[in-house]
Amino acid sequence: MKQNRILVSRCLLGENVRWDGKTLTDCPPILKEWKKAGLVIPICPEMFGGLPIPRQPAEPQGGDGREVVAGTAIVIDPSGKDVTAEFLKGAREALRLAEENGVTIAVLKALSPSCGSKQTYDGTFSNSLKPGMGVTAALLKQNGIQVHNENEIDQIVDLIG
Ligand code: SF4
Repeated sequence: MKQNRILVSRCLLGENVRWDGKTLTDCPPILKEWKKAGLVIPICPEMFGGLPIPRQPAEPQGGDGREVVAGTAIVIDPSGKDVTAEFLKGAREALRLAEENGVTIAVLKALSPSCGSKQTYDGTFSNSLKPGMGVTAALLKQNGIQVHNENEIDQIVDLIG
């Protein structure tokens, strides 16, 4: 049977790419198994966009990732610096990799302004969430890719491998 490859957020593979310089310790073990089996294309859109580790946190303002992709919202850091271009560059690179590899499924980190697929932060830097998507998740979904988070892996196990 043909094996389906998936995009996976690098931080969910235990890689040190997060904005705060910390490494996640509660990554779903199956993601590393899929990586060992050659099924994973690891992505970190914020690194693709040229942002450093560590980096300032960022939140969408004026909408969520869908509006950022549409050009009607921006992504800022707490000082008000506009990092929209970096977020969009990273999202486009993630989409390029998905298309190049025929990927139709992604498992991306929940809540992230890049990778979140159900909720994201509300742009006030007060730790408040709102329904919505990160920039990369939105661009992938608009291009026909199923985007799941680390809490939804059970839903896709049968589709991998
Ligand atoms: S959530 Fe996405 S952008 Fe943020 S560190 Fe993880 S892979 Fe990179």
